[in-house]
Amino acid sequence: MDFIDPRTFLLVANLFGILCAFVLWVQARSFPDDIQGLRDWARAVVLIGCASGLASMRGHLPDLLSIVAASGLLLFGQLLLIVGLQRYAGQAPTWRPALDAIGAVLFLTLWLTYGSPHYQGRLLIMGLAHIGLFSFGALLAARARPAGFGNRFLAAFFVLGVVIALWRIATLPANVAQSDDIFDHNLIQQAYLAMFSLGVLGLSIGFILLANERLRVELEFLATRDPMTGALNRRAFFARADIEWARSQRGRRPLAAIASDIDFFKKVNDTYGHHVGDLVIKDYSRRAGEQLRLPDVLARFGGEEFVILLPDTGLAEAKKVAERIRREIENQRDPELPVYTVSLGVAACFGDEASRGDMENLLAAADEALYRAKQGGRNRVVA
Ligand code: GH3
Ligand code: MG
Ligand code: MG
Repeated sequence: MDFIDPRTFLLVANLFGILCAFVLWVQARSFPDDIQGLRDWARAVVLIGCASGLASMRGHLPDLLSIVAASGLLLFGQLLLIVGLQRYAGQAPTWRPALDAIGAVLFLTLWLTYGSPHYQGRLLIMGLAHIGLFSFGALLAARARPAGFGNRFLAAFFVLGVVIALWRIATLPANVAQSDDIFDHNLIQQAYLAMFSLGVLGLSIGFILLANERLRVELEFLATRDPMTGALNRRAFFARADIEWARSQRGRRPLAAIASDIDFFKKVNDTYGHHVGDLVIKDYSRRAGEQLRLPDVLARFGGEEFVILLPDTGLAEAKKVAERIRREIENQRDPELPVYTVSLGVAACFGDEASRGDMENLLAAADEALYRAKQGGRNRVVA
């Protein structure tokens, strides 16, 4: 590594770090409040940059700054990464035990610098502290949601940090005569320093990817879901329905729809109030949804009207599903809610028949069946 001047390298890496911190800070300002942790990460990147800046001034500054303060800033910066991930996951940060552990490491570092100077000993305890923090970081990153490229990227960088720290510890005994000067042109020590500067860039990019993915998922949810029940909204329903319709035609497979409407719902509102009415709508959405398979689609069309689309399902099967929902609702067990019933209309089309109508016809047929269920006395299924 003689061809790279280590100080230049750290300087460039830290400039990139400041850029990353800037991106994190700007995102923190524009992201919704429920996506937390970006500010902690921005601060962490700056602290870790300061730590490596101090460490690179070794020999020009007192050891108290270039060793002890640098170690403290580095560990506290790494702790902020952990705290940011905990906040991102909606957990309370575990400050206390972590700060105690960092305090103990700093005390030992101080002692191994001034009391009984021991270069290898210092590297060993710092290495162990990094392993602890990065292992926890990897665990939090692996559990972070949404699962996808961002959280895997982040977890991989934390694991890389653990591996490099382990490698640094494993190579300590082979370097007993190693100089105490961290800027000796020693490959291992330089790679180790590069890990903190470059590693924190990789981590920041991973966290930005993760937070952006979460934002995308949240926006998609807002655009496609009814906020009260989480069921699909009308627009998203028709987008899905078009796909299912095309699939059923191409594969000559049946497609069924169920239109449902809660009975005498005005009375629920009038008797118990609008709030209880809302709870009943949510209860219906949840319990009807529990009766469905994964590919089935539940959508709220407005008020207490829901439509269900059942791919690959014929009329007889769809009728069974509707009847299951009707019975499930009739057997209300929640003492907080009034007993209520629901009427359901079922319609289906089959492979070749499908080409004769369209989605609108299928839904109109289900609506027509629902109307007859209401006419027939409610709390029933008509196909
Ligand atoms: P039917 O058995 O014929 O369906 O009688 P119904 O009383 O249920 O009549 P309808 O389906 O027309 O009633 C719809 C009522 O739902 C009217 C409206 O006040 C109420 N509603 C619509 N949206 C909401 C909502 O978001 N929350 C609550 N609590 N009520 C709503
Ligand atoms: Mg109704
Ligand atoms: Mg209605």
